[in-house]
Amino acid sequence: MSGTLEQRLYSIRYKTAEKSHLTVRDESACLTCDKDCNFFCPADVYLWDPERKQLNVAYENCIECGTCRLACPSENIEWVYPTGGYGITYKFG
Ligand code: SF4
Repeated sequence: MSGTLEQRLYSIRYKTAEKSHLTVRDESACLTCDKDCNFFCPADVYLWDPERKQLNVAYENCIECGTCRLACPSENIEWVYPTGGYGITYKFG
């Protein structure tokens, strides 16, 4: 598969919920951790803003792989599926 991440994600259909299904349990813990989520998320949902010292969570881009639920070393991400028919639909499966 070729193309940029953005081009590849374009093949997925999203129905975006108003409320995030991803919750950072303790935002202050993100100040001192290694920000692993900025690297393991395949959809670039997590992005640390060093100026604002804040973790931005673009939940509307989540492909619901579940990695962040398991991989955050601090277990600081609460993960649930989007409810009410929201979330993603894969074009090819
Ligand atoms: Fe990223 Fe996967 Fe977590 Fe969604 S479930 S935020 S795609 S790591």
